[in-house]
Amino acid sequence: RELVSPDADGDERAVEAALRPRMLGEFIGQTRVREQLSLVLESARRRGKAPDHVLMSGAPGLGKTTLAMIIAAELAAPLRLTSGPALERAGDLAAILSTLAEGEVLFIDEIHRMARPAEEMLYLAMEDFRVDIVVGKGPGATAIPLEIAPFTLVGATTRAGLLPAPLRDRFGFVAHMDFYDAAELELVLFRSARLLGVALPEDAAREIARRSRGTPRIANRLLRRVRDFAEVRADGVLTADIAAAALNLYEVDGEGLDRLDRAVLGALLGKFGGGPVGLSTLAVAVGEEPETVEVVAEPFLVRQGLLARTPRGRVATAAAWIHLGLTPPPDAFG
Ligand code: ADP
Repeated sequence: RELVSPDADGDERAVEAALRPRMLGEFIGQTRVREQLSLVLESARRRGKAPDHVLMSGAPGLGKTTLAMIIAAELAAPLRLTSGPALERAGDLAAILSTLAEGEVLFIDEIHRMARPAEEMLYLAMEDFRVDIVVGKGPGATAIPLEIAPFTLVGATTRAGLLPAPLRDRFGFVAHMDFYDAAELELVLFRSARLLGVALPEDAAREIARRSRGTPRIANRLLRRVRDFAEVRADGVLTADIAAAALNLYEVDGEGLDRLDRAVLGALLGKFGGGPVGLSTLAVAVGEEPETVEVVAEPFLVRQGLLARTPRGRVATAAAWIHLGLTPPPDAFG
């Protein structure tokens, strides 16, 4: 499954680090976010102050961590990286905040998963550059205010809707990251190919881009698999046909659907005539947990307009029949 998963595992992070754009000018796509961000950074530079806190929202693999690193690089400021799940207690956050250097950029990935007490501490820190350290327990407990250096918080979330309003309101700027179009993904691929020392013809880039689900992380991953295939099977010569053959071998089809995606669609069409069918029935039909179908397969199928979630159950669209090369029953679409 991992080939088209938007999340990176531990080993992949090291490989990815080498492919990250370092400065804003190298960052591909997201034109509006880039322009907004460059204004925020430029005005902070002119005022000689730390810029407003920045919230980035968008799906995994779209470049949020990369942008956080770029913000620090553009400000020539140090960067501290942490994540919501790592901030279980207020003390975890206090330890970081109290050791920040002036102007430091603090990146909190998955900020919607921070524990409540840490979140409340963060409000005060963002607003007044102050934390209250609570000493003691029960009625004798006292809060000792501690000044912290002015810093810039960069938060990233895949679920902006889950952020409590008081936290969201304390960001001066919210960057909404969209999926990339095919032309932008091709540029990402050309850049990565250059860094990896791979000759990538345009039609091969197009072949990889259209299977990459609008996501640079997936594009880079498919590129590495295609490169391996070309090295072993084609003397390192990468063509569009080689790219297609490699990705077919890994069961990533022409629209970026993988085995599970096609199994879900196939069952919906073949066993349930296109639906509507309930999630758990559909999951049993493909031998997966309902949650796997719902969280791993469905969001992309919905985004591609292949499947719809309705109150009566899951329904295939006309595009789904076409994608699998099947003919819908005559009464399927009224
Ligand atoms: P996120 O934090 O949103 O999950 P990352 O910033 O870790 O995503 O990006 C994942 C991978 O995709 C990295 O290797 C990064 O280099 C690459 N990438 C993301 N966005 C871009 C972009 N706009 N241009 C070039 N490469 C990108």
